[in-house]
Amino acid sequence: MRLVLLGPPGVGKGTQAVKLSMHFGVPHISTGDMFREALAKKTPLGLLAKEYLDSGKLVPNDITIGLVRDRLENPDCAEGFILDGFPRDVAQAEALEKLLWSLGVSLDAAIYICAGSDVVVRRISGRRVCEACGATYHVSFNPPPEDGKCPKCGGRIYQRGDDTEETVRERLRVYKDLTEPVVDYYKGLGILKTVDGEKDADEVLDIIISMV
Ligand code: ADP
Ligand code: AMP
Repeated sequence: MRLVLLGPPGVGKGTQAVKLSMHFGVPHISTGDMFREALAKKTPLGLLAKEYLDSGKLVPNDITIGLVRDRLENPDCAEGFILDGFPRDVAQAEALEKLLWSLGVSLDAAIYICAGSDVVVRRISGRRVCEACGATYHVSFNPPPEDGKCPKCGGRIYQRGDDTEETVRERLRVYKDLTEPVVDYYKGLGILKTVDGEKDADEVLDIIISMV
């Protein structure tokens, strides 16, 4: 199964990607997670990505596309993948099509998860993440334990530095200007499926599985 997940920041792409990855037995590939891991390890990639993550802007395409190319060429992607946070603009979507064509495979679907901006802002502002395993929690909808330790791995649960009001505003602007056109791109390819992301996370999962 080869899927891309589209939708505004905070709509639940990562949450669904983890569930879909388990369901289909294929890797979850999140460019945001890859940049955050690189930053935590202070690699050259992470140090380069830092200013973009901090400001809510897109990391330049040559870097991001190269990163995804290397990842998709890994043997663990032979049977499929769930792409989360990529493609983020039409140039990335075109590069992905080219790459998949060169690998002799194609996407099964592009899943567009939508929700109103009030829901998205509420979800982002309450999001908490485990710094070790990336598990996602929410202060109201899926509260982390009071001791701040991840029940899955014991890692520290924190609030992402880019989940602040100012950066969220910029990320939503970038989404509207650059990422929303990707929805039309996949509509044009005839593989776009739209799901109401305001429903409960398990309901959203069932709907996605029934669509692909
Ligand atoms: P994205 O990857 O699209 O930025 P996340 O998957 O990280 O979004 O979800 C953002 C926040 O919303 C997280 O705190 C997550 O726990 C919560 N969340 C995700 N899906 C739902 C849902 N269907 N209902 C309620 N909360 C959700
Ligand atoms: P995310 O975890 O998807 O919310 O992404 C967090 C940040 O990582 C974004 O605001 C960008 O700075 C960067 N990023 C993630 N994915 C991409 C991408 N496909 N292209 C460019 N930048 C990205």
